[in-house]
Amino acid sequence: MRCSRALDIMKGIAALVQQVETGRPEVANEYPRSVQPEGNPKAQELMRQVFEICDPDWRGIGVVPDSGLRLREEFARYDVIERLDIELIAVPDNPACHCGEVLRGVMRPQECGAFGKACTPERPLGPCMVSSEGSCAAVYKYE
Ligand code: SF4
Repeated sequence: MRCSRALDIMKGIAALVQQVETGRPEVANEYPRSVQPEGNPKAQELMRQVFEICDPDWRGIGVVPDSGLRLREEFARYDVIERLDIELIAVPDNPACHCGEVLRGVMRPQECGAFGKACTPERPLGPCMVSSEGSCAAVYKYE
C-alpha cells in the first residue's frame, strides 16, 4: 500500500511537470484506481439529501451565486447557528486588504501595500494571512 501511494504522488508530480512544460494547465485525475470520472454516486446522493445549494457571501470576494451548500430545512436542528441561537455580526473587510484580488489571482500578495508591514501572520489584517494555508501567509513564509 505504501508503495502505491508513493507511485500516486510521483504520477501526480509527473503530470504537473508535463502541464508546466506544455503550458496547458488542467484539472486531471491521477488517482483513477480510486477516483472514477462519475465520482462517488452514493456520497453525492447523501450530499443532495442533506444539503442544498445557496449563494454564500465569501469573505473578500462577495456573493457568488450557487457556490455554497447549506443544510436543508429538515436538518436545521443540526445547524449550530440555529441550535445555539447565534447572531452573526457583519464585519466589513479592511479597506487596506486585497484578499479578494489575491484569491481571484489578479494580484500577488506582495503587491498588497500592507503585506509584511501592517499585515503579518502575527498581526493579520485579512483572512489570507490568518491561517498557514492562506495565500498571503504561505507567500510570507516561503518566498
Ligand atoms: S497581505 Fe494582508 S492585507 Fe494584504 S491582501 Fe494579504 S491578508 Fe489582506
